[in-house]
Amino acid sequence: CVECGECIEVCPTNAITLPEGVKPAAASEPVVEPKEQKIETKAEVDEKPAQVAQVIEKPAVKLPESEYQGVWIYIEQRNGKIAPVSLELLGEGRKLADKLGVELAGVLLGNNVRHLTKTLYEHGADTVYLMDDPVLDQYRSEAYQVGVVDFVRKYKPEILLFGATAIGRDLASTVATELGTGLTADTTRLDIDMQNRLLEASRPAMGGNIMATILCKVQRPQMASVRPKVFKAIQPIAGRTGNLIEEKINVKEADLRTKVISVALDVSDKIRLSDADIIVAGGKGLQDEKGFRLVHELAEVLGAAVGASRDAVEAGWASHSQQVGQTGTTVAPKLYFAIGISGAVQHTVGMENSEIVVAINKDPNAQIFEKCTYAIVGDAFEIVPKFIEEFKKLKQ
Ligand code: FAD
Repeated sequence: CVECGECIEVCPTNAITLPEGVKPAAASEPVVEPKEQKIETKAEVDEKPAQVAQVIEKPAVKLPESEYQGVWIYIEQRNGKIAPVSLELLGEGRKLADKLGVELAGVLLGNNVRHLTKTLYEHGADTVYLMDDPVLDQYRSEAYQVGVVDFVRKYKPEILLFGATAIGRDLASTVATELGTGLTADTTRLDIDMQNRLLEASRPAMGGNIMATILCKVQRPQMASVRPKVFKAIQPIAGRTGNLIEEKINVKEADLRTKVISVALDVSDKIRLSDADIIVAGGKGLQDEKGFRLVHELAEVLGAAVGASRDAVEAGWASHSQQVGQTGTTVAPKLYFAIGISGAVQHTVGMENSEIVVAINKDPNAQIFEKCTYAIVGDAFEIVPKFIEEFKKLKQ
């Protein structure tokens, strides 16, 4: 909120007020053209076609020396296995904590999960906040929310990060609501504004047309969920140890409205894009659905997941869950094939952390060649069948 007061005038139910003492900003405040910048976003339904957002620069609110200190990462685990995104966040959290000169902590909830603390210290945590109780055996929002909120209220971190997974998204939103603080969802970049000691959480906004850097100036902790595979876990330091702070969960089984009766695992043998070590991705250059089948064939031989550019998805050759890029999934496999993909920035932003990229494109000036390890200039319909043939031979 930039406290301009415009929403108060248009709210049909008169439900919006400004905090006491705040006067609506004058209508003549300067309008800055939209571009990548540090902003407070304010979506505007504006008649002027060239403007997608009105951005009003305001001086940062200076917080008093805050009692909130430290960077915390929510450690997601299922059946005693830590989600990779939590280790990635410990890696990035380490950088943020070092910048701020504070501790990095992991918040670990579950049943019989104490042994995981070792991995967390080795991945950069100085402290682990632990609740270990049978009531936390399976993830349930109600119980986990109480646990995380109790820890926050007692130990007061200034930053709290979650992986943007199904569990992380659910938990982060309920925790933020209970704490009455701000949450930036689906962040792809994190940094610290050292002057004001604020977390800068960036994410695509306005349908991907701008990168919005979102600040939570007043409330604490500053919360964000972060897409998997955006950051890298640090190389674990064997034998590194830290502090353990353990609390009892303030919830009993009888208090909970949700019971887990059984857990059905997805047994489909399809490899998920975000988990895949190898991805074969196809684009508009494959011409039609039949051409796109080459991508599936190569993926099958390699035991890879199938990815696609947005244009291939929009053509109906692949599903949205297979889209790689700014408005799709961010991936970082060991090997990424980009076949008939031009390499628009909205695509490459989602795959540029891949270890090895093999690009096949008939245009020698295609942008994708700037992002690849191996560039193959030529017709995909000639080259891909040869790959398939050779990999089949290797498999035999
Ligand atoms: P094209 O750009 O049409 O490229 C096709 C390529 O195939 C060309 O380079 C051509 O030389 C090559 N080719 C043609 N025939 C052959 C052949 N026989 N053999 C080999 N090569 C051949 N895109 C994404 O992918 N992911 C996103 O998340 C995404 N989000 C977006 C968000 C916004 C807000 C906007 C505006 C756009 C977004 N886009 C996204 C779209 C992006 O800008 C590009 O339009 C899109 O990536 C292009 O897809 P493409 O490379 O398949 O098609």
